[in-house]
Amino acid sequence: MTNNEAKVIPVRVALRCRPLVPKELNEGCECCLTFSPGEPQVIVGTEKAFTYDYVFDPMAEQEEVFTVAVSPLLSGLFKGYHATVLAYGQTGSGKTFSMGGTYTSAQEDQPCVGVIPRVIQRIFQEKDKGGSCDFTLTVSYLEIYNEDILDLLCPSKDKPAISIREDPKEGIKIVGLTERVVRSAQEMVACLELGNSSRTVGSTAMNAESSRSHAIFTITLEQRSDSMVSKLHLVDLAGSERQKKTKAEGDRLKEGISINRGLLALGNVISALGEESKKGTHVPYRDSKVTRLLQDSLGGNSHTLMIACVSPADSNIEETINTLRYADRAR
Ligand code: ADP
Ligand code: MG
Repeated sequence: MTNNEAKVIPVRVALRCRPLVPKELNEGCECCLTFSPGEPQVIVGTEKAFTYDYVFDPMAEQEEVFTVAVSPLLSGLFKGYHATVLAYGQTGSGKTFSMGGTYTSAQEDQPCVGVIPRVIQRIFQEKDKGGSCDFTLTVSYLEIYNEDILDLLCPSKDKPAISIREDPKEGIKIVGLTERVVRSAQEMVACLELGNSSRTVGSTAMNAESSRSHAIFTITLEQRSDSMVSKLHLVDLAGSERQKKTKAEGDRLKEGISINRGLLALGNVISALGEESKKGTHVPYRDSKVTRLLQDSLGGNSHTLMIACVSPADSNIEETINTLRYADRAR
């Protein structure tokens, strides 16, 4: 698909609030968010209300998030539209849980399975139907850490550096990245599991499993009939929390700064896209690796969903408000 068509598809935003986790319950945290039944609205404290395209309260199951918010993007994908799902939020808010970034095929708790494994299942169901939907599938999985790109499907230290090129015909190309052709859901799931196990884990004062990197799982569909190519990026963004809470020092501080750059750039791109649909505003894709990488799949006639993840705990209210505002800018 080219980006020349006049119509710009707006970014959709889903707000997802996870339940209080045991640690929060033990600390006596209370829920500071209220949800209006039947309305995509969340109220912070007693006064401030925010409205999004979708709001998923703590009771919402993984299946509902997938069916309601994600599967419309897949319908577009089969018609040749690029699509991107971004999980945004502070560390511990449920980004990786929502995306399925800890998935293993041994996982028994099927209702807890996140977006990526569900997408894989759906794509292969469609492929196996055959007919007009005969396509070749390739997958890549990378991480952006400190503005460096790491290949999660070939995690070797002495690989040549991975770089981003812009091809006038094919769009954004990532030179040096493993792109694996997969023939079955099992093969694609194996790539997901391999990549998940290679992810960089940095521990900070906030959460031992805190992630300071962006992880991007990309599925490319090439329709055999007309060689139409569409890409789906499934992105687990770095934690959005600000520096002071994480007691960052030395290396960690450097990581924090460059990650903020990606999230800042993404916020600017997304809000510029909102403006662009009204008048031709400049969209600053070049300000970070993550926005460059997603350039041809964000905006234009690509379908983008941001899943903004929040904790309901009153102890997290500041970061929750930051996330609600960031997500509000996207619309
Ligand atoms: P993040 O990736 O944003 O740092 P995680 O996805 O690791 O956060 O979630 C933090 C914790 O909360 C994990 O233990 C996870 O299992 C739990 N959790 C997150 N979202 C939900 C949810 N919707 N329902 C139940 N548990 C959740
Ligand atoms: Mg995570």
